Amino acid sequence: MIIEQAKYLCQMKRVFLLLGSNIGNKQEVIITAIRQINSDAGKVVQTSALYETAPWGFKDQDLFLNAVVEIEPSLPPAQLLVTILEIERQLGRTRLVPKNGPRIIDIDILIYGDEIVNTPELTVPHPAMANRRFTLVPLAEIAKDYLHPVLNKTIGQLLNECPDTLTVYPVGTIEWQ
Ligand code: AMP
Repeated sequence: MIIEQAKYLCQMKRVFLLLGSNIGNKQEVIITAIRQINSDAGKVVQTSALYETAPWGFKDQDLFLNAVVEIEPSLPPAQLLVTILEIERQLGRTRLVPKNGPRIIDIDILIYGDEIVNTPELTVPHPAMANRRFTLVPLAEIAKDYLHPVLNKTIGQLLNECPDTLTVYPVGTIEWQ
């Protein structure tokens, strides 16, 4: 009963995750990650298109594929992080590369409803999201009018004001079901 109640409270929140990959069969890895998220972290209710994006930070690496998914979370934020880190691990992610360097899969929690989390392991809303077109473009595609709970602006406004100029280009829809 208590577990059911906790699940119900989690599901009242709109949660958005960013996925990215720039090694191997990027599209296949992202689709596998979405299926895993759907079974372990919460029902996937919406996906953006798949976007090809220029690398941010560390330039000398392959283009990324990025997408944003909305889930109805079955876990609170800290456990959601543990679960997505485990999904990354299962898909072969290692952490021996430079920060912002190449990766098989990266999954970030962008927004967890109106929750504000500031712990050593987790910051939500994601602190870099307002500066990154590779995050805001797919997020705006599925949640343009969603209000950022800290910055108090919609995702569409944040995208209009974003100083980032790196290329973000839609390359197709995501068929994961
Ligand atoms: P990276 O894979 O480079 O994005 O970094 C992952 C680490 O960032 C994780 O081990 C988390 O502890 C930490 N982290 C902090 N805030 C977040 C967030 N909102 N989403 C995902 N990881 C986060």
